[in-house]
This record gives sequence, structure tokens and C-alpha cells, in this order.
Amino acid sequence: MITNTSKLRHKEELRSHSTVGGYPLWYLQEIDKKGWSCKTLCLTCANNLCQEEPVWLIECVNYESELYCDECSEKIESAY
Ligand SMILES: [Zn+2]
Repeated sequence: MITNTSKLRHKEELRSHSTVGGYPLWYLQEIDKKGWSCKTLCLTCANNLCQEEPVWLIECVNYESELYCDECSEKIESAY
């Protein structure tokens, strides 16, 4: 489930947990706005990406989904 999304800019500080509730966060990268192609990113990879190039990321809370990072294949922490 994706809720509480907000767009983040290049070099903004990425948080690992939401300020309200302390839920684990992951990041969705919009690659192609027309085709709605996107990538699931863990905090580490999202941070790395931000250092390299300007990027639009959507901050998402992972409540209970089985999610894996598209970059490093790490399992993304879920709240429950
Ligand atoms: Zn990753």
C-alpha cells in the first residue's frame, strides 16, 4: 500500500522513517512520466542516486508489503 506520498527534490535529506508514527519509508523514482515507469528504491540507493543526479522521488510508507529494492535487491523494511 502506498500512502502519504510527497515529492522530494534533488539533495533534500531523505528520511528513513516517517515523522508521524515512525513507519519505515522507501522511495519511488519516476523514470518516465508519460509511461509511468518507476523504480522501487531503498533508503541507501535513493540517497546514492540523489548524490549523482537531480532526481524526483516520491516518499512512500511501507506498512505491510513485501518490497524489494530494484537497485540492490535488499528487502525493504515494513511496519508490520
Ligand atoms: Zn537498494
